[in-house]
Amino acid sequence: ASTWSAVPAGPPDPILGVTEAFKADKDPRKINLGVGAYRDENGKPYVLPSVKKAEELITAAKGDKEYLPITGLSDYTKLAAKLAYGPDSKPLHENRIAITQSISGTGALRIGGAFLARHYPHSKVIYLPKPSWGNHTPIFRDSGLEVRGYRYFDKETVGLDFAGLKEDLLAAPEKAIVLLHACAHNPTGIDPTAEQWKEISDIVKEKQLFPFFDMAYQGFASGSTTKDAFAVRHFVEQGHQIALSQSFAKNMGLYGERVGAFSLTTESPEEKARVDSQLKIVIRPMYSNPPIHGARIAGTILGSSELYPQWEAEVKGMADRIISMRDSLYNSLTHNLKTPGEWGHIKSQIGMFSFTGLTPPQTKALAEKAHVYMTADGRISMAGLNSGNIDYFAESVNKAVR
Ligand code: PLP
Repeated sequence: ASTWSAVPAGPPDPILGVTEAFKADKDPRKINLGVGAYRDENGKPYVLPSVKKAEELITAAKGDKEYLPITGLSDYTKLAAKLAYGPDSKPLHENRIAITQSISGTGALRIGGAFLARHYPHSKVIYLPKPSWGNHTPIFRDSGLEVRGYRYFDKETVGLDFAGLKEDLLAAPEKAIVLLHACAHNPTGIDPTAEQWKEISDIVKEKQLFPFFDMAYQGFASGSTTKDAFAVRHFVEQGHQIALSQSFAKNMGLYGERVGAFSLTTESPEEKARVDSQLKIVIRPMYSNPPIHGARIAGTILGSSELYPQWEAEVKGMADRIISMRDSLYNSLTHNLKTPGEWGHIKSQIGMFSFTGLTPPQTKALAEKAHVYMTADGRISMAGLNSGNIDYFAESVNKAVR
């Protein structure tokens, strides 16, 4: 028998499977709302003009292709930390943030999981919101942590189950790790308010939980990188030590370049140096050192007085287009089509995704009858909508729920 005859076939990835079905569909009206990648007004992938300019500068500089250090391009990671923690951040100024470049957000989470599994002294348990990004569970499980959940989504209100969230964090064992989506919660599109974040911070303090922020969408949610960093900066100001995963996939459109960062706030420069040394020991056997091109792009933009404001405007442009699609969809369903049900959440949710409340049979019917593809949980990527397809989408939803 073959060596691999006992290897069982695994299930297809639930999100990439949607794209496969979409590709196979030949109907010209077809719409793919499965994948979390920004699309422009014409439904096309978008390379940011600031990214194109940065690439021109990089090409003109004729740099070499040598290996980066294990923790990546320090010109880039310094600026990534400044973007996340803020220009006035105390730990940043006191040189006590340990940071490494990562293979985008996924790689940052994986480095973080592995580092915590090895060095966090108090617990091997991480609490994720229910639901969370589908890859969180396998990432942390494969990192050697035990994954548990805290309540997050309230089906009845299609909103945040804040009472359930608080109860579950208060019931968690002291010093457990808790994963928090910094902004634009995926898949629900529902974020705590600033007041609620303050309460969460108090509970985390009371229970001495360890907060691990996943910030995959800074700037993409509200259009402001500062506003979207509120939770992270508030926790740091409140004296929490945090772990942070960053990604430039969405906010710079650098999906395939795989550029991100993982950081930990520490107590002193001396402690930071020890933590840095152990981050290297975690990373070296995984992939030795990260790729160079994406880090050069992000570093060039973040470090340029010309490109930085241009990029901020482009991020805002993406966020605003998504917000305008939310308004149009809400208006079509509620006012034009008088679709049964409450659709206010389409407008109040934030970021790339909306949890529509559509049921698995409805999403199935939408795919089969209307050629409209989304994940079975009813999540849609708002970025897949544009003025050319939104009316057809609203009419299809209207039919599916009646
Ligand atoms: N975290 C969340 C919540 C996400 O939604 C994503 C991407 O969809 C990621 C992390 C990681 O993405 P990437 O590895 O492309 O940066």
